[in-house]
Amino acid sequence: MNRIMKQLIVAIFLLLVFFSTNAQPDRWQQHIKYVINVDMNVTTNRFTGTEKIDYWNNSPDTLNRLFFHLYWNAFQPNSMMDVRSRELGQILLGNDRNGNPVYDWDPRVRDRISKLLPNEIGYDSVQYIKINNKTQKLIYHETILEVDLDEPILPHSKTALDVAFKAQVPVQIRRSGRDNAEGIRYSMSQWYPKMVEYDYQGWNANPYIAREFYGVWGNFDVNITIDKNYMLAATGTLQNANDIGFGYEGDGVKVKQPTGNTLTWKFSAENVHDFVWAADPNYKMQKRQIKNGPLFYFIYKKVDSLEWKRTALADTIVKAYPFIAKTFGAYPYKNYSFIQGGDGGMEYPMATLIKNFSPGTAIHEFMHSWYYGLMSNNESLYPWMDEGFATYSELRVSAWLRGDFSFPFTNAYNSYFRLVKSGKEEPMSTHADHYNTNYGYEVNAYSKGCVFLAQLGYIVGDKVLDKILLEYYNEWKFKHPNPNDFVRVAEKVSGLELQWYKEYWIYTLKNIDYAIGDINEENGNAKITIKKVGLMPMPVDVLITYKDGTKEMHYIPLGMMYGAKPAEDNTPRIIHPEWKWVDEEYSFTLAKKVGDIKEIEIDPSQRMADVNRVNNKITVP
Ligand SMILES: [Zn+2]
Repeated sequence: MNRIMKQLIVAIFLLLVFFSTNAQPDRWQQHIKYVINVDMNVTTNRFTGTEKIDYWNNSPDTLNRLFFHLYWNAFQPNSMMDVRSRELGQILLGNDRNGNPVYDWDPRVRDRISKLLPNEIGYDSVQYIKINNKTQKLIYHETILEVDLDEPILPHSKTALDVAFKAQVPVQIRRSGRDNAEGIRYSMSQWYPKMVEYDYQGWNANPYIAREFYGVWGNFDVNITIDKNYMLAATGTLQNANDIGFGYEGDGVKVKQPTGNTLTWKFSAENVHDFVWAADPNYKMQKRQIKNGPLFYFIYKKVDSLEWKRTALADTIVKAYPFIAKTFGAYPYKNYSFIQGGDGGMEYPMATLIKNFSPGTAIHEFMHSWYYGLMSNNESLYPWMDEGFATYSELRVSAWLRGDFSFPFTNAYNSYFRLVKSGKEEPMSTHADHYNTNYGYEVNAYSKGCVFLAQLGYIVGDKVLDKILLEYYNEWKFKHPNPNDFVRVAEKVSGLELQWYKEYWIYTLKNIDYAIGDINEENGNAKITIKKVGLMPMPVDVLITYKDGTKEMHYIPLGMMYGAKPAEDNTPRIIHPEWKWVDEEYSFTLAKKVGDIKEIEIDPSQRMADVNRVNNKITVP
């Protein structure tokens, strides 16, 4: 772990320099170390476990209670997740192509939880939590366990906790569980009593209803004892690989497994905020080592007819990694695992559970190593910062792999436009759990969050956006950035004021609509008027194409930006005086006559999310 430690020290040093030169206060964050021992029974699908937790309260606050997540308690009839899913199942969204009604529930969940039998439900049951050998008072709130402390935890102190728990793996409903549709025995995510993150905004004790996650930064040592026929894949690095084998052993090592019917797999991960594992007796693996980069594991069920697909994905990731590292920052851990499991694709630190090995999903989940894994935003409060950013980077990486240099975000824009029209749009600042519909949540998190970045490229220039993404990585990896943190990076890198963009795009439902207005001739010069029809202001690119084939980019900065983006191509550009946001119209004059103009187009790049594009372009007869 020397390499990571060295990088961390450099990062901390740079941060200190950064904060001292900018005179900004540092933001504290809690730290945790888990040592988890698990004994898995593959016949009953139950396990017992212990956790030794060291918890550093780095906050200035005295804590009188703690909270833990017990996610698997959601997989029981009448749980909040079950009730919520069935409630959303009452909301009719419309009809599909065949005229069948489409309801708002997640088709993977529907009412399946309500039908689970006692041996199919999940549970996480804590037997005790002890501090200094004293048993603490536990209050169950279904998926949240409240721990009322007999003695408060003081600011800037370290506390050791002993936890004993037992659990039953639920039949796989969503993300986690056993015996999924592809027959994977165990997809073990959100499986252990996990400390709720306490941050500068307080406790984040969100009852689990199927959505988002957030965790304490820390280190994990996880020792899993299981039937020796099972192969495991997990967050972190296997410490006893040469005693375990299954392909994890070093090159040329002759593996000598200990005797007995079980094996104990010892995984260790540093600077992560969650831990996932999966197990199946028919797993196999492929490995790909990137030179001066991570070791990739691809772990999947042996199916000969699908082997080409697994190999193709492995080769694709090897091809994509250098572009990813250059564009979004280097992956700082030693290894990463693509694991067949779960019910689609779901991100975890240093690993993903994916259902089929499609490159799009795999790249999306791998990009979560940045947006979730490293820049660990609170996913409940800012789901678009991980889903939207992962979608944005997935689409860019996929386009690069295809060698396609056209704009890759059109589908995300269209999805956002449809949401606006549907009337189901809610502000992007809505807490993930509290959206009125799954539909509104998903489009905001994935599409409108992706548009947030793609459109920022329009506002500051795509090359500047690239610098912003790298600076965001440099400043905020291994932390918990919020939207303002990202926008502040964007402001400092671009030299433009962007608070207005954050306020309009995230906190309101105002949308963008610019239109071409009157075209007149004044003293032999064409005078063009642009109208602000929508309520959200933007800087405006207007491309004029003349009948002689020449083009001119006319750029109208928005007054609130206090600056102009750099020119983005070789088209001659004319920068006009700023547009004050209260003005509903803006006019500028050309050096040529109306008769010379062939075409006028607002934002030919289509990166501005103008909800009504029919009034953006005219051809002059
Ligand atoms: Zn995602």
